[in-house]
This record gives sequence, structure tokens and C-alpha cells, in this order.
Amino acid sequence: MCLQAFRKKIMSNKFRVFATCDIGPAIELLRKRGYDVGVYPHPEAPPKNLIIDKVKSGVDGLITTLRDQIDAEIFEAGKNSLKVVAQIAVGFDNINRADANKYRIPFTHTADVLTEATAEFAFFMMGTLARKMWPAEHLTRENQWSYWHPYLPFLGDEVTGKTIAIIGTGRIGLAMIKKCAGFDMNVLCYDPAYENHAYVNAIQETLDLRHARGISKEKNWIKYVPFEQALREADFVSVHVPLLRPGESTTPTYHLFNEQTLYMMKPTAFLVNTSRGPVVDEAALARALRENWIAGAALDVYEEEPLPADSPLRDPAIADRCRLLPHFASAGRITRLSTDPDKGMAGRCVQGLIDVLEGNYGGDVTKMPYVVNREAFGK
Ligand code: NAD
Repeated sequence: MCLQAFRKKIMSNKFRVFATCDIGPAIELLRKRGYDVGVYPHPEAPPKNLIIDKVKSGVDGLITTLRDQIDAEIFEAGKNSLKVVAQIAVGFDNINRADANKYRIPFTHTADVLTEATAEFAFFMMGTLARKMWPAEHLTRENQWSYWHPYLPFLGDEVTGKTIAIIGTGRIGLAMIKKCAGFDMNVLCYDPAYENHAYVNAIQETLDLRHARGISKEKNWIKYVPFEQALREADFVSVHVPLLRPGESTTPTYHLFNEQTLYMMKPTAFLVNTSRGPVVDEAALARALRENWIAGAALDVYEEEPLPADSPLRDPAIADRCRLLPHFASAGRITRLSTDPDKGMAGRCVQGLIDVLEGNYGGDVTKMPYVVNREAFGK
């Protein structure tokens, strides 16, 4: 079929899509292409039964968020019609990959476009925590600021010139390294699966140049080290791993931070987690903060989201050293909503969906850049 005829066929085919959440103007982009798009109208996640019913009704594509459990029940419901699941997130631990593969349904994610936003947020969380900006603002607002004093009522810790451990040197970990290098930090890297020495060498060159030109006073460094060394030597530990439960990887990340590993950190060190909540054992972390095993923690993600009212992390006794953010690291205006697939999660999400439904890349799923489970479609 010639290209024009193929295009005509696609346009005459009114694809049906259900989005479990409103993802902004990108929805209109689909409608303008002739798609019939239903959107769950409430801000909360829809109940799973509702998703199953929508899928059973014959939708071609499903737009999902990390709040939706996408597994065999959903794929079974869609086995005669569902062609793609397009997730608006880079993490896809809510999607059962083995189930998707069994039913041979491709799913897409929105890697890359949220990398810089997430890394800068992790950096800001680190600074906010270490420099005690939250307790300091409370002091001002509550009229407790009664004098300037060299060290009262408390001091913060500088970030500049300190050593950070980056756990997971994938896209976001590397972006975080770039930002830390700009603050004259030394960097310990740990990643059991992917050591990007070319990137690390390039960062070292920039650090050397900054020192040689008198921009940085100290000679800063970056290197890969084993996990335990990273924890023992770092002033800050920033986590950038996917959530991998036991059985999903030879180096799972579930509860990677537990009583044993938190205890390895320096009592003056801070933990920053923007990855996934279950990577940190929250009961262990609350204990580590209460008993001063570490100096503080800033979290964007939790074992259960939204954070339950009775979470030990809400203990007022640790509030000065425990920052709690609402899974917000990618929540930049452009990053979340831009319809440009090279800028926004929404744009990349719908592009992933379009690629599969409209048979881009000659219909070869293994060539589609946003598809995750390409292994299910190899020859
Ligand atoms: P990525 O796949 O590019 O990088 C993850 C890295 O972690 C990989 O290099 C991998 O080898 C490494 N890794 C795997 N197991 C490890 C282990 N046991 N110890 C150390 N490293 C390990 O992913 P990314 O794009 O950098 O995103 C990372 C994660 O961040 C996502 O999976 C997602 O869960 C999370 N995330 C959260 C937000 C947020 O809003 N808070 C935003 C974006 C991403």
C-alpha cells in the first residue's frame, strides 16, 4: 500500500482511547487526529474495575499513570482489542511486564523528558534539607526570629565542597551528577548494572578545568565505588534507581535502604530519595532519624502514596530533619504538560501511543523509541 493510502486508512480508523487521568492539552492533540478519547474526570485514580470495564468495552489504547495497577486482569480484559498501554511516567513498576509480554501488548513510558526536572528537584530537596530552610522559615513565620546570632537557634550544613553518593547512574543519576559538579561537590557513583565511565571522565575533565582556571578553589573528583563505600564516605546520598522487587533483578532495589544500610551512613549524612518509595524501608528510616544514625532525609516518594496520616515519618520529633514532598519531582509545567514529545511527558506519552496504533516505524514495535517491553516482539 502506498504511503498516502496507508495514511488515509489510519485516518479513517477512529481509534478509541481511555485515559485514567487528564493529561492536559495532549488529549486534544489525539482528538484532532480523529481519536475517540475518554478521560476519567476525577483527580483521584479510578477504581481498577472501571479500568477493566473500559478495556473490555474495546478500547485500542490505554493512557495510565503510576497510580494504576496494570496486570493480567487488565490485559485479559483487553486481549481482543487493547493494542497499547501508554504510561505517563518513566518508572513503570505499576505495570506487570511479564503479564504484558504474555499478552504481547506493548507499553510505553516517558523517559528522558523528565530527567532534568527530577534531578534539579532532588538537588533543591538536598539544599532545602541541609540548609534547614523549612525550620528557618517556620522560625520567621512564627515570630520566633528575635536576634541575629552566630549559631543560635541552629545552623545548617553547606552543600558546596561536600561529597555526594549517586546511587543509580542512569538518566536522572547522571543529570544529578552534572548539577552537583556545578556546586564543586565530589561524587561517589554506584551502579551494579551500568557504569558510564565516558560520562564520569567527562565530568572529571570539567572539574579539572574549573580548578585549573581558578573557578573552583579545590580540586574535585568523581569515581565509581562499591555500594558500602559510597554509603560510608558520603555526606549526601541521592537515590536514582528503579523499583525492582526481588525476582525482578539480580540486584533488586526493594528496601535497598534498610536498618543495616542506613546504619552504614555517617551520622552527619543526609539521604535524598526521588526514586520510588519502597526503595527505602520507612520504618527503618524513621528509626534512623529518631536515633540520629543519620542527620536527615528528604523524600518525594513513599511506600504508600499518598503518605498515610499515621506514617512514622510524620513524627514531630523528627520534623526539623525530615522533608516530605508529595511525589512532585517531575512536576514542572513544561515537563508534565508540553505536547512536544521532546519536552513534555504528556507529549511523549501520546506519541508512544500514536507510534503503536498508527504503525509508525513500519509497524515494528522493537524500533519504537518509547516502547519498554520490546523483548516480547523480537523475531
Ligand atoms: P534509568 O533506568 O535511566 O536509571 C536507573 C539506574 O539504576 C540504571 O542505570 C540501573 O542500572 C540502576 N540500578 C538498577 N538497580 C540498581 C541497584 N540495585 N543499585 C544501584 N543502581 C541500580 O532510570 P531514570 O530515568 O534515571 O529514572 C530512575 C527512577 O526514578 C525511575 O525508575 C522512577 O522510578 C524514578 N523517578 C521518580 C520521579 C519522581 O517524580 N519522584 C520522576 C522520574 C523518575
